[in-house]
Amino acid sequence: MTPNELNFSGGPGALPASVLKQTQRAVECLDETGVSLLGMSHRSDWYQDLNAQAQSNLRFLLDIPNEYEVLFLQGGGSLQFAMVAMNFLQGSQSKGQYIVGGYWSAKAPLAAKGLGEVDVIWDGRSGGYKSLPNAEEIIKKIDAKASYLHFVSNETVEGLAFDQDSLPEVKTLICDMSSDLLSKPIDVSRYGLIYAHAQKNLGPAGVTVVIIKKELLEQGNKEIPSILSYAAHAKESSILNTPPVFSIYVLKLVTDWLINEMGDLKQMLAINQAKASCLYDALDGASNFYSVHAHKPYRSLMNIAFTLKSKSLDQSFLNLAKESGFVGLEGHRSIGGLRASLYNAVSMKACERLAAFMSEFEAKHGS
Ligand SMILES: *Cc1c(COP(=O)(O)O)cnc(C)c1O
Repeated sequence: MTPNELNFSGGPGALPASVLKQTQRAVECLDETGVSLLGMSHRSDWYQDLNAQAQSNLRFLLDIPNEYEVLFLQGGGSLQFAMVAMNFLQGSQSKGQYIVGGYWSAKAPLAAKGLGEVDVIWDGRSGGYKSLPNAEEIIKKIDAKASYLHFVSNETVEGLAFDQDSLPEVKTLICDMSSDLLSKPIDVSRYGLIYAHAQKNLGPAGVTVVIIKKELLEQGNKEIPSILSYAAHAKESSILNTPPVFSIYVLKLVTDWLINEMGDLKQMLAINQAKASCLYDALDGASNFYSVHAHKPYRSLMNIAFTLKSKSLDQSFLNLAKESGFVGLEGHRSIGGLRASLYNAVSMKACERLAAFMSEFEAKHGS
């Protein structure tokens, strides 16, 4: 397998080979226009079509109800931390509630500081971000007067995932799904707003998908600059200013690939479950040679953070993995160790390869 097929990077993540091939051709010249993808005007009919098709692919895959708008914005996940607060908090009389379950969800309340009251209702930091709260723990902290409850569905750094069924009914649930959108079916109707930057599971960096309930658009703060307003972007069908045409083009190809090659997100989920099981099985070997960061009930299907018995073994594992063709297995700089990210484009075959490598490494270096 090529290094590209063995890319377990946490982000930007692996993309399907067929998508890369089509992108390469499009950068040179789009068959339908005779012009390079990089030189296509966003005011062209071609772009209008692309914008519509990318949206309708997402609507199809995620079964997005009509009461929701799909937006393509820029600024990544980090701008969304701020935009959520800027749009839905309006001074100290307003309140935003937050669940902090890991490195990324800890950033969201910081971006809201000064815009309203920031209420962190659960913080897993003292426990080292190894678990997430259950529904009862959340429900007793819910303030019905708060503008929203924000959380991250999949903690990319620590490898923790929320069980969607454990979430309480909240008036406005806002979720950062940057590292697991399109990895499984979700019930969009439970959320007020969902966002996900593209560079982990949807395509290249540059575009952020926002799925927002239309009634929320009307409630947004009108005093902010239009470039930061969800309502303003929705009004212009995400062409308020020059959109990231390249990234949206690749996102459209990735969603085509999901529809044509995977069928639907139920099938994608089954594959992602098989991939994750294959690796967790290898890591859970009898001798405690490997240690998975997340406690079992919270284990992510997308990111597996783990360490070996000693720091020096972590380094030899990384070195040998690199020599063997594996890419992107370093842990996030905030917690170190190792991390295998199993985004949609990482194949079962690649996971089996890595699992075999783990077992061989254990056989050689275990007691
Ligand atoms: C990577 C990541 C981010 C940060 O996104 P940027 O686009 O780099 O700002 C935010 N949230 C989650 C869940 C992530 O995994």
